[in-house]
Amino acid sequence: MAYAKTRNFLIALARWFDTTAGGAAPSDGPQEVDWLRCIPFAVVHLMCLGVIWVGWSPVAVGVAIAFYVIRMFAITGFYHRYFSHRSFRTSRAAQLGFALLGASCVQRGALWWASHHRMHHQRSDEPGDVHSPRQQGFIWSHMGWITSEANFGTNLRIVHDLAGFPELRFLDRFDVLIPIASGFGMFGLGAALEARWPGLGTSGAQMLIWGFFISTVALLHGTFTINSLAHVFGRRRYETGDDSRNSFALALLTLGEGWHNNHHHYPAAARQGFFWWEIDLTYYALKLFEAAGIIWDLRPVPEHVLHSRRIAAPHQKPSRAARAARAAAHRAQRARARIAVRHDTAQSGFAPLVEPAKTAAGVSAAPVRAADSHGAST
Ligand SMILES: [Zn+2]
Ligand SMILES: [Zn+2]
Repeated sequence: MAYAKTRNFLIALARWFDTTAGGAAPSDGPQEVDWLRCIPFAVVHLMCLGVIWVGWSPVAVGVAIAFYVIRMFAITGFYHRYFSHRSFRTSRAAQLGFALLGASCVQRGALWWASHHRMHHQRSDEPGDVHSPRQQGFIWSHMGWITSEANFGTNLRIVHDLAGFPELRFLDRFDVLIPIASGFGMFGLGAALEARWPGLGTSGAQMLIWGFFISTVALLHGTFTINSLAHVFGRRRYETGDDSRNSFALALLTLGEGWHNNHHHYPAAARQGFFWWEIDLTYYALKLFEAAGIIWDLRPVPEHVLHSRRIAAPHQKPSRAARAARAAAHRAQRARARIAVRHDTAQSGFAPLVEPAKTAAGVSAAPVRAADSHGAST
C-alpha cells in the first residue's frame, strides 16, 4: 500500500517534466481535483504576486500585453482552428512553428489541446463533455477540469491525424520545455534592456513577472472563458443543441473566439465571426498568413449554413422544457451520427475525426470529419 502510494507520488512528480512517465494516464478516473498535479498551475498564479517586489514599467506592461496577444492568436488560430479543426492547410515546417508558439502558452501540447477540444465538440454539454457548465458547474468548466488526472492524458486515437508527427509527439511529451524557455527568454530580455537602456526602468525579474507570469495567467483565463462564459452568457443565433453563445466582449478578449454559437453551428470554418460586423481578429490575421503564402485553403462558411437552424427569437433564453426537448432530439441525432461514423471507419480502427491526409506539398487539412461537419457535431 505504502509502496503504491509512493510510486504514484513519484509518477505525479515525474509527469511535471515528462507527461508519459508511468505510462498512459488513465482517462476514466474521477473528475476531481488532483492536488499534487495542481502545484505548477498554482505556482504560475502565485508568481504574479512577485509584482509587489519588482514593480512595473511601461515597457514590461507593454511586453506582457504583446505576448498575450501573440499567444492568444497562437491558441485561437493554431491550437484551435488548425490543430483541433484543421480549417486550413499549411506546410509541415509551419505546422511545427505553430506548435512551438502554442506550447509557449502553457496550455500543454497541441495534441493534448486538440484531443480535449475535439471531445468537447463530440459531446458538447452532454455527459462526457469534460468542460461543460451544464454538466459540472461553472468553476469546473472554467479551470477545474484541467486539474483532474482523468483529463491529464492525450487521447491519441482522437488526434490520430496529428499523432504521426514525431515532433508534435515530442512537444506533447515534454510540454514544460517551451514554457521554461519562454520564462528564461523574458528574464534575458529584461536584463538586456536594463543593461542597454537603464532609463526604461525594467529588469530581468520584472520582465519575468510581467512578460511571462502575468501575461500567461491572463492568457489562461482568457482562453478558459470560452469553455465557461461562452456556454453561459451571450446570445444564441443557431439551434446547436448545446448552450454555446455569441458574445462581442468575449470575441474581443479572445480575438474572435467569442462567436462561439457560430462556431458550434459550423466548427469546420476558419472564421467564427460569420458576418462583417462580427469582429474576428484571428481570422483577419489568418488572411494575412494566407496572403503571405504560409497557409492556404481556408475553409469558408457555406452560404446555406449561414441561414440554417436559425433560432426564431435569438435573444430569448429558451424555456427549461424547450431545452430538454431540444437536448433529447439532439442526443438521438448524435447517436445516429455515431453509428453511421462507426460504420464508415470500421476498417481503420480509429476514431473518425480527421483523415490522416498528408501530401507531398504539405500537411493537408482533412476533409470535414463527421464530428466537425455541419449537423453532426452539435
Ligand atoms: Zn464550446
Ligand atoms: Zn472548436
